[in-house]
Formats: sequence, structure tokens, C-alpha cells
Amino acid sequence: MTGFAPGARRDRFFLPEGLVYLDGNSLGPLPRGAKTAISHLTEKEWGETLIGSWNEHDWIGAPERIGDKIAPLIGARPGETVVSDSVSVNVFKLAAAAVLARTGRRVILSEPGNFPTDLYMIEGLKRLRPDLELRLVERGAMADALDEDVALLLLTHVHYKTAEVFDMAALTAAAHAAGALTLWDLSHSVGAIPVDLSGCEADLAVGCGYKYLNGGPGAPAFLYVAERHQGALVSPLSGWLGHAAPFDFSDDYRPAAGISRWRAGTPPMLALAALEAGLDEFAGLSMDDVAAASRELSDRFVQRVYRTCPQLELISPPDPAARGSHVSFRFPQAYEAMQALIDRQVVGDFRAPDAMRFGITPLYLTETDMDRAVDTLADILESGAWQQERYSVRQAVT
Ligand SMILES: *Cc1c(COP(=O)(O)O)cnc(C)c1O
Repeated sequence: MTGFAPGARRDRFFLPEGLVYLDGNSLGPLPRGAKTAISHLTEKEWGETLIGSWNEHDWIGAPERIGDKIAPLIGARPGETVVSDSVSVNVFKLAAAAVLARTGRRVILSEPGNFPTDLYMIEGLKRLRPDLELRLVERGAMADALDEDVALLLLTHVHYKTAEVFDMAALTAAAHAAGALTLWDLSHSVGAIPVDLSGCEADLAVGCGYKYLNGGPGAPAFLYVAERHQGALVSPLSGWLGHAAPFDFSDDYRPAAGISRWRAGTPPMLALAALEAGLDEFAGLSMDDVAAASRELSDRFVQRVYRTCPQLELISPPDPAARGSHVSFRFPQAYEAMQALIDRQVVGDFRAPDAMRFGITPLYLTETDMDRAVDTLADILESGAWQQERYSVRQAVT
């Protein structure tokens, strides 16, 4: 018995009847409150108050206000989180600032198979800073690889494919002992499992708004800078809305105090209205309870796959406590099998080269959904229904 009953918030979301949606870790469904918030913002604020809304409806304060709503989900204190840009851009901003602050050190340490954008952004940073080295080390060897050359440890807390979880407390402590800073990508953690940035003494973090936070397609991302670093680190993307006094319109850049300096341009208010409504669905929930419900559902799912789908190989940790809130299986024709499954109203996704991935989101999923998903999958594998020609046509987004 957990404190959160799986599916208890289902009626707060638009979810088509008969659909089992196991892809909320890639695009969360539409919260009913988001639809209302967007029409309110367009009709009442943009439509009636126009530019006065920046002050009257505090549009200008939205990035910090929404950041403070994310804070309890990640163990941040008020004033340490701001919403801006995408995860990719935020990785760049924070990594560039971190290496500038760690003079004499030239290595950014990460793991092979990290989410590609994190690695790609560092490649781009290296073009501006050819002295930097991106060192990729297998996770078992990570702590030992922290030497006096490492400026920054850049890791994704929950792996996007396997759902393996890094020990944030231990690795942050090891990084600090070696004199390095840490930057955690929380894209598959926030809204999925408890995160305690303060308790782990983490330095920097980024995370995604459109996955478990249900903020809508392309929702703005967030970033976190521990208060103790806020005076020393400066964003390389020194846009006007991160300025101490943007409406002075002075020629030279002076960073705002606190977390606001990590803003760059004008906040996307339509998107922020949806994200804020998505976050309001977490109000009053304990992430320990939500994660316990997720483990219950995902264990039920995995045990049923073990019993009925011998063709699949689990690539996530078998222990529910050692994974985030999704599970993945290897199957040689994973793409085709996933297309056949989607065709039968069970939506997961495919991750190259051969993984079938299922997001387990207890806000709106139930035990019945788990059973139906596995039973449909077993039927597809057993009957070979996935072999139909049409299931092999690759689309742009998988
Ligand atoms: C989804 C995801 C991102 C997304 O980056 P955007 O730039 O916001 O599209 C980044 N990192 C990880 C680990 C992700 O899972």
C-alpha cells in the first residue's frame, strides 16, 4: 500500500479513451489545467491587457516563479531554479561557465551513451575552447577518472534508455574531493523520482519541461545553480533579460544578482502558461509516494513481460529501486514491434538501435493499463503481427 494510488490523477489529463499511454517520459499528456491556462492567457491577458501584462500579470517574473515551483521536486531552495531556453542551451550555458570558473583544468568528464545533446553541446563548446577535452568513461570507472584535470563532471542522473540511476550523492562528493564541479541532467528524473540537489550538495543542474512535468511539446527547460555559486558564475549567453537592469538600456552587460542572470531573452509566455499548469498537478504530492507507485507498476509490468514475452531482454536494472520511472527491453525488431503496438493503442517508443521503451507515469496509469500493455505486446510477439510490411517504414521521429 502506497500513499499514492496509481492513476489517481487521471481525470486531470486529456487522454483518449482506450489508449494506454506509456510515453509520458517523452511527451507528457495535456493537463486539463494547461488548456484552461492557455486560453486564459490568450484571451484575458494578451487579448485584453496586452503589453501591460508584463507587469500586471507578472509575466516578467514567470521564469523565477515557475522555477520555484520546480524546486521542491528537485530538492532546491527558493531562488536556485529558473526556467529558460532548452536543456541543450542550458547545458551549454552552465558547462561554459563552469570551465571558466575552474581555471587550469581542461577536462569535462561524462559517459559514452549519455543523452546525445549533452555530448554534442560540449563538442560545440570545444570549438570555442580548443584546449578542452571531453573525456568519456564507463560508469563503473567514473569515480576513479576524477583527477586534477577535471573541471566538470557532466552526467544524466537517470539514463534515457536504460533508466539506470547514478548515485548523485557519492559522485558529487567524489567530484568535490577532486576539485571538480558537477552538472546533473535531470530530464528523466524530475517529476519521476525524488531528487535532492541540496542534500547531495550538487553544484549545477538542468532538466526538461515536456516529459514528466507535462509542460507541452517543446516546453521551456529549467536550470539550477546552487546559491553558493551564484555570485561567481556568469552565463556566456549574456542576454538582456539576464542583465541587472534591462530597462536601463545601457551599453554594457552587468549580470543580475541571483538566478535571474541565467535568463537570456524574452520568456515564451504561452509555453510557460502550459508548463506552470503542468507543475500545479504536482502540488501536494510527495515524490516518494509517486515513485513508490511507479515502482509498483513497473515491477508488475516487468514480471508479466518475464512470464509472457520470452523474446524480450530487459536492459533496465531488474531492481525497481535502481531505475528511474521507465523500463526498456531489447528486441532485434524493436522498431517494428513498437509500431505494431502503437497500432493497437499501446504507445511506447523505440530507441535505436534495438530498444522498446515504456514510460511508467503513475499520475494517470493503473495496474489495468500495465496488464493490457503487456498482454497486447505478448500477442504481437507470439503472432508475429509486427512482421507486416507497413510497420517497418521509419518515420522522422521515433
Ligand atoms: C529529453 C532530454 C533532453 C532534451 O533536450 P532539449 O534541448 O530540451 O530538447 C536533454 N537531455 C536529456 C537527458 C533528455 O532526456
